[in-house]
Amino acid sequence: MAAAFAQASDRLQWASPVDIRAHQDKALAAFIRHARMTVPFYADRLIDVLSPDGTLNRHAWPSVQPLSRAMVAENLDRLQTTSLPVSHGMLHNFASSGTSGLPLEGVTTSFARMHTAIMQVRAKQWVGVDYHLNRAQIIHHVQGHDTTYPGKAVDGSWAPIWANDRRSGTWHQLDHSTPHRQQLAWLREKGRCYLSIIPNSGIRLAELVLAGEAKPDIAAIFSCGEIVTDAYRDLVRRAFGCTIWDTYASEEAGCIACQCPSGNHLHINDDHLLVEILDTNDQPCAPGQPGEIVVTPFYNYQMPLIRYRTGDIGVPGAPCTCGRGLTSLASVEGRLREVFYFANGESFVPGISPILWQRCLNATIHQTAQVDIDTVEFRFVSDTPEHEQDRAGFIAGINRRFPCGMTYRFRQMATIPGHDKPKFTYQICELPPTVPRHPPVRL
Ligand SMILES: [Zn+2]
Repeated sequence: MAAAFAQASDRLQWASPVDIRAHQDKALAAFIRHARMTVPFYADRLIDVLSPDGTLNRHAWPSVQPLSRAMVAENLDRLQTTSLPVSHGMLHNFASSGTSGLPLEGVTTSFARMHTAIMQVRAKQWVGVDYHLNRAQIIHHVQGHDTTYPGKAVDGSWAPIWANDRRSGTWHQLDHSTPHRQQLAWLREKGRCYLSIIPNSGIRLAELVLAGEAKPDIAAIFSCGEIVTDAYRDLVRRAFGCTIWDTYASEEAGCIACQCPSGNHLHINDDHLLVEILDTNDQPCAPGQPGEIVVTPFYNYQMPLIRYRTGDIGVPGAPCTCGRGLTSLASVEGRLREVFYFANGESFVPGISPILWQRCLNATIHQTAQVDIDTVEFRFVSDTPEHEQDRAGFIAGINRRFPCGMTYRFRQMATIPGHDKPKFTYQICELPPTVPRHPPVRL
């Protein structure tokens, strides 16, 4: 079954936007029909979305109330289908830490996971992955799956299960809490390999290599789980001499968008889910205008999420010149909790260069926090005493991003709580809820 779906996806990416939309409408209509008939939560919520002839009524779509994370958590039982088609296979529980930091538990199926795998494989084809090379994944701890140092060698091939030729290099996994120098040593043993790693750790490995640690032989980095900044891309190019290929995914929605080989922007997997980017009035954003990413993944029939608010900010892109008909996502700019808001109406994700942290403060772990409308706190871990740090140079380096008159506070700490968690963010807005927040206008 997977091979047929994979072939269809390979073909569809080159179809016109009109044909892709027709495919979406069909998948959505079937999905909505299922949700309305078998999922108690949707019994009376999707009345006008299907026309009398059973086709999708896109005009009624904006009237469907977007689903917040809190609504999902409150209605977990009512969001489950009472009748899952047998062909959708086994159920799998997932937990996502998401934007609020509160875990959201949910259920997906083998069928939905197969579609995610197809999207991931297609993105690997885009960038010409050579399955004969080795694969090294530095991953978050998975229960019942011991990847602590010296890691785990995964049996069998890492080429797609539906490939005609499944010969591949070796496949290794290591827990991401392994000390970074040990991660580098582990990677050096793996020979030429593709590395999957979150930016949080990838930045640190690149910094260590630039500081003189021996370099592993990385063919490319596959990134997922956090924002890939230009600064991180540059760091990796200088440290490893390779490219980062970015993927935007979530436990709830699967593989949402993958980087186009022609640039740093992503292509939305329109054949797998509907992505809307909505402003603060829930109206669609124009290309270049940032808004919240709202998703409807088509294939999780066990727990249908219809217009689910991700809490992530994305910027719609212009049509791509690569020839693919898939919608462009100019960038994923961060999570809502990473947006800083200022008294002058500006808002943005600060994205301070890791090189600046390293050069001025010798910081090994760092976090920028907005603690008040005019106060930003720089938290960091460093062996260097204050009189040997260049705090003024640091402020000079970040200053053009922030409005005049800001107060900056440095906080050198023994550790930063949560830094070893995969959803740790380098920037966090800790404004009290009473402070008015303007919609993001510049990112
Ligand atoms: Zn493209």
